[in-house]
Amino acid sequence: MIIAEDVGQVSAAPETLAPQVARKLENEIMRRGWPVGQLLGSETELRERFGVSRSVLREAVRLLEHQLVARMRHGPGGGLVVCAPDSSPAIRALVIYLEYVGTSVGDLHHARLLLEPLAARLATESVTEEEIARLRATADPAEPVDADFHVLVGQLSGNTVLRLFTEVGARLSGQYVLTYKDVPSTGAAAPWVHAPARHLGVVDAILAGDDASAQLRMIAHLTEIEDWLLTQSRSWSTERMLTRPVDPQPGRDPARKGAEVLAGRIHDDIVGEGHRVGEVFGSESVLLARYQVGRAMLREAVRILEHHSVAQMRRGHGGGLVVLAPDPTASIHTIGLYLNYQGVRPEHLLVVREALERGCVQAATAAARGPVAAGRLRDLLAREDADEEFHARLAEIAGNTVLTLFLRIVTRLWVSQGFGEESPGAADGGDAHRAILEAVLAGDEGLAQHRMRRHLRTFTTRWH
Ligand SMILES: [Zn+2]
Ligand SMILES: [Zn+2]
Repeated sequence: MIIAEDVGQVSAAPETLAPQVARKLENEIMRRGWPVGQLLGSETELRERFGVSRSVLREAVRLLEHQLVARMRHGPGGGLVVCAPDSSPAIRALVIYLEYVGTSVGDLHHARLLLEPLAARLATESVTEEEIARLRATADPAEPVDADFHVLVGQLSGNTVLRLFTEVGARLSGQYVLTYKDVPSTGAAAPWVHAPARHLGVVDAILAGDDASAQLRMIAHLTEIEDWLLTQSRSWSTERMLTRPVDPQPGRDPARKGAEVLAGRIHDDIVGEGHRVGEVFGSESVLLARYQVGRAMLREAVRILEHHSVAQMRRGHGGGLVVLAPDPTASIHTIGLYLNYQGVRPEHLLVVREALERGCVQAATAAARGPVAAGRLRDLLAREDADEEFHARLAEIAGNTVLTLFLRIVTRLWVSQGFGEESPGAADGGDAHRAILEAVLAGDEGLAQHRMRRHLRTFTTRWH
């Protein structure tokens, strides 16, 4: 649990006051064990408690409402009420980040191939008849996007982290399918043609308790989707994925929707027009005219973009909406809140981490055949401080944005949920890290995988 002891007054520069108040309220909610429906205090009470102005408190409340952590109930007896968060803000945050940094079809599907067969295997162990009926009911995708079946398999794995990542992968992949579905076909059958039969094949294997077959069928299905996407994208002129952040539950919060949609459009335009970090995308008046919206709506959208570190409004002369470097910190925070509410367990993180690290070793060994990655791996091997953030550095050299992000989330959560330190490196004095690197550089993936797995097992023995 992420727990701060004090819930008293805050002090800092005005622009960081609201996030501080929001954090303190989040901590209080977590410490109380997410008492959904409980009143945390009226607006006046909260203002007095934190010693902040009405506008700062309202900004803090907006941040909490954006993450579905709490909402302000107006009227007599009203106040800030604890909500039951769902996964949609966390998923949206991840999808936005991955779109922003630019994610290739290959990277995305590599991650899906690591995680979804694992989900199918875990589902085989615990599935009930009622769940089988639900799987069969979602086998035929209503639209080409084909995410529901995969989301459900992720859910039936019983692992909240795996479920979240599976949903991100399936939704993002669905966005690619939408992007490429109208590109003149190159002959290969579109994935949604075969999807119902492929899904039912996976369900049959799960039903039979044949986890090996469930995994293989899932792999075959995902490979078909990937192959089609790669063929379609090659016959298209642009490298960039043209998508808009998808709202997994459109219309669940109509009041908020306008600003979310506007934020999505602005984000699309920033990326689509190729604006660089630090550049001014437009002044407030230019944006008001361009998007034909009211000032309140624009400011709400800007708050959302600021929350995701996509852009920031700079005041004063020469100011405007400035493009920021993508930063997943806010997304990881949102995910931490959601998983804390869901009750994430150490074994959830461990099993997902093992799959992700396997992917990183795979990708790093493949990348090591090229001179640039090989040089970076040798530099890492020679470094005095190679053990610090070793896993994050290896993932970065491996070069898969999805695996790098997911691994970062898993290691941060491990620490923030109080399960232990970030790396077990100290246990073997860094020898394990060097040995993994040597095998990767020698092109011996099998040995590198073995060493990584052995190394990760020290997590289990030390904290269980
Ligand atoms: Zn499918
Ligand atoms: Zn390590």
